[in-house]
Amino acid sequence: MAGRDHADTEILRERSDLTMASCDYLIVGGGLAAVSAVEGIRREDGDGTIVMLCEEEAPPYHRPPLSKEYLQTPEASRELLHVKPEEWYEQADVQLALGTRATGLDARQRKVHDSDGETWEAERILLATGGRPRRLGVGGESLEGVYMLRSVADSEAIRKAAREAEAAVLVGAGFIGMELAASLRAYDVAPTVVELGERPWPQVLPPALSEFVQAYFEDRGVAFRCEAGVSGLRGEGRVEAVTLDDGTEVPCDMAVVAVGIGPSAELAAEAGLAVHDGIEVDKFGETSHGYIYAAGDVARYPDPVFGDTVRMEHWDHARAHGRAVGRNMAGAKLPYDHVSYFFSDAFDLSFNVFGRPSMADRIVVRGELGAKGSLVFCGHEGRLCAAVLVNENESMDECRELVRRRPSLEEIEEELSDPEADLAGIAG
Ligand SMILES: Cc1cc2nc3c(=O)[nH]c(=O)nc-3n(C[C@H](O)[C@H](O)[C@H](O)COP(=O)(O)OP(=O)(O)OC[C@H]3O[C@@H](n4cnc5c(N)ncnc54)[C@H](O)[C@@H]3O)c2cc1C
Repeated sequence: MAGRDHADTEILRERSDLTMASCDYLIVGGGLAAVSAVEGIRREDGDGTIVMLCEEEAPPYHRPPLSKEYLQTPEASRELLHVKPEEWYEQADVQLALGTRATGLDARQRKVHDSDGETWEAERILLATGGRPRRLGVGGESLEGVYMLRSVADSEAIRKAAREAEAAVLVGAGFIGMELAASLRAYDVAPTVVELGERPWPQVLPPALSEFVQAYFEDRGVAFRCEAGVSGLRGEGRVEAVTLDDGTEVPCDMAVVAVGIGPSAELAAEAGLAVHDGIEVDKFGETSHGYIYAAGDVARYPDPVFGDTVRMEHWDHARAHGRAVGRNMAGAKLPYDHVSYFFSDAFDLSFNVFGRPSMADRIVVRGELGAKGSLVFCGHEGRLCAAVLVNENESMDECRELVRRRPSLEEIEEELSDPEADLAGIAG
């Protein structure tokens, strides 16, 4: 995510430059999966014409800093976020149509209609439309001072509000809510995290780790209200408090709703493609309709490790899936072979997570649980299902391989818990 030198506007090509109404590859979406698909296509096909329709005006950018460094740094510029510099699109020979939304898909004829009234015909189409934050569906969500976080504009609005605010409520203790709470402390805002589950980050952290993280956050000025639903947001024009199910109110001058995302799969659904909490694809990224593919946050794909289908909303998956599917669109036949992984950073804690800790029915801790570097292995029905690394990034490869193999936990438990035992040997 290196810094880039070019202003957003320079990359925006005028509509009049877009003379093609047909192309070999049409990519709908302008995020990491879309850019990664271009890389994949170009690995296999140096000549095919590629057009990318991007609803946002900004060129493709990285989202993880939006809740972390970018949010914490008032002067941080958008160029730091760019996935690729302007000249990359020239070199890859991609036509980037910024500010252009795909409005309709005719799957049988492989045509896409866009918001500028253009109709595109393509040999292969990729849907990489990502997702949108879920709303709570309660009163007061449209009050001034209530935010959601997905885009760079959202992050900038939160950054601006944080400079003036004294107290904030974060609804949802998933990774975005937790990162936001930590980032808001950089502005001396007092955050309260409201969570429906009984502890913070319940989908990812096993209870012992959750407790440690909660105490760590509390020591740094973050309050928690767990097992609490939100029944509404109150205020005269501007938010003044968040009302909980038990009738109590948490006063605030800003609130962020961070309760997950839903896939932006409308185009596919309306075109009759198989959609079930995401666009269903096979191991090559192909949808139920030949020549139409999906990748990244919007796709539901067969997980090679756990054997079911899953939709991942993580940076590493968007990159790897985009690349793999792009190659397949251009004629390769590569099954997606990715061990699910994501990272998160809050305060001075870094988390690297492989597999599915949400399935854990027991854990094995290597070394001491804490900020000095710990490894937590999770088991499900006797087999390893996840590894969570806290402030430890030297064992990433070994943890990935262990989760890929899913060995019997009983057989390796003693070695796993011994910080002196060689992990590489255990990973085999
Ligand atoms: C604040 C934040 C922090 C994050 N932090 C982390 C982290 O620490 N670790 C981690 O692993 N992951 C993190 N993620 C998740 C990660 O950023 C996403 O998984 C990744 O961005 C998904 O990429 P994508 O290309 O599939 O979708 P997106 O990034 O959502 O891109 C899709 C793009 O398609 C556009 N689009 C949608 N519909 C249309 C249409 N009809 N026509 C044209 N364009 C359209 C959208 O406007 C969007 O620009 C974070 C996400 C957010 C929002």
